[in-house]
Amino acid sequence: MPDLQTTTFTLDDLRARAEGRGPIPPEVRLAVLGSPVEHSLSPAMHNAALESLGADLRYAKIECSPEHLAEAVDLARRAEFVGLNLTIPHKFEALTLCTELDDTARQLGAVNTLLFDGSRIVGFNTDGPGLVRAIREVFSFDLRDLRVMILGAGGGAGSAAALQCALEKCPRLVLVNRTEGKAHDIAQRAKQLLHSDRLEGPEDPVTVIPLEESDLREQLARIDLVINATSLGMKRTDPRLIPASLLTPDLMVYDMVYRPAVTRLLEDAQNAGARTSNGLSLLLHQGALALEIWLNRPAPLEVMRRALDQAV
Ligand code: NAP
Repeated sequence: MPDLQTTTFTLDDLRARAEGRGPIPPEVRLAVLGSPVEHSLSPAMHNAALESLGADLRYAKIECSPEHLAEAVDLARRAEFVGLNLTIPHKFEALTLCTELDDTARQLGAVNTLLFDGSRIVGFNTDGPGLVRAIREVFSFDLRDLRVMILGAGGGAGSAAALQCALEKCPRLVLVNRTEGKAHDIAQRAKQLLHSDRLEGPEDPVTVIPLEESDLREQLARIDLVINATSLGMKRTDPRLIPASLLTPDLMVYDMVYRPAVTRLLEDAQNAGARTSNGLSLLLHQGALALEIWLNRPAPLEVMRRALDQAV
């Protein structure tokens, strides 16, 4: 058996597997498709869980470009995979490949988990619910009780977070994105979700602001939780996303980036006395929820957490 954490398989490998040959072992019946996918820690987390449960399944990572997504999903189904995870850049396109969607996937407009059931391809989104669990775990607060600012609300992860906040009926939602138009699009969708079962209050609960110091300062005074969903922070040389002077001790700051474990944003927030967390808890909880969908049994959370800690 190749090392499934360090090996990245190709579409050709999946084609061969669908014909019963090639380098992907027959035990592999779960995988993450993405591009790039090499950095993914999901095989370490899921294989530790599968081993501890005594399941005769394994999880691999497969590089797949957008133009080959439909073929890859079909190949995996024909190769009798149980399901798939989807990561950058497939979460939106995958919607069109599902024969059914669960409510969250439909409301968030993105799919990160597929379950194969005969000819049915059921799409789920565990990113949003995973964020709810992560925030509860690391800050001991429910997302629905927090006034939230999302930096990078127009990106894939940021839009899922923003729409999940709307589903949770967060009392305030401030959306920030370098390309402001994208945040306005997400704000419209968030408002539809928020207003579907409640009348608009005296203040519009969803606000879009530019990534400008004065706007950020004004809004942060009435925010409990800041979520960084931009890709800034992954490199130590990345510039600051927001000035350190804007961060205050009463804030909670959640950075979806988890490598490095302490980004510049988290370092600034810690220096300001704020509570902080990186994004490893989101990776863990979205993964645990996906595993529960595939296996229909509780995920061994602590086993998965230890495997992630080691892999990272
Ligand atoms: P994405 O769809 O490409 O979105 C990237 C976001 O970052 C966009 O909002 C983009 O703004 C913004 N951005 C990029 N460079 C910027 C800059 N120089 N200044 C300001 N904003 C900038 O990527 P994604 O899939 O949402 O991922 C975003 C981050 O979340 C990544 O670091 C990823 O690793 C992390 N993530 C973590 C988890 C987890 O499990 N912890 C899960 C998913 C994602 P524009 O719209 O203006 O381009």
